[in-house]
Amino acid sequence: MIRILNVRKRIALVAHDNKKAELVEWAEHNKVVLAMHELISTGTTGKLLEEQLDRPVKKMLSGPLGGDQQIGAMIDILIFFWDPMQAQPHDSDVKALLRLGVAWNILLACDRATADFILTSPLMKTEYETNIPDYSGYLNRKVAK
Ligand code: PGA
Repeated sequence: MIRILNVRKRIALVAHDNKKAELVEWAEHNKVVLAMHELISTGTTGKLLEEQLDRPVKKMLSGPLGGDQQIGAMIDILIFFWDPMQAQPHDSDVKALLRLGVAWNILLACDRATADFILTSPLMKTEYETNIPDYSGYLNRKVAK
């Protein structure tokens, strides 16, 4: 199965507290390109981005309150500046969001350099077909009753 990423892509921007300034600065730097796409964010990150970019951002709950999980279901690209130096109260959610990104073949950047490479890809301006991994083997596996 395939999934179409439209020209206008759904980009999630999420940052832990120690990384928020870096993400906001990156978003400001890339404001023109980001203007062509839909932005989705966890609550606090989204509020900061709206203020900085002066544009609407679809805001989910704050990460520790479930926002990471809400975001996991609705995006094409995840820019997630998570903090490698600080444990989070919602570490299990952080892990789950990263896991879902990989499980569903979502574009995923956890640092500024990778985010730059994604955002400057020519594919950002076109429709793109991506594979949806086939989990039918898993879904149809035999389990003991
Ligand atoms: P926040 O959530 O943007 O509401 O701070 C981010 C996160 O910790 O996932």
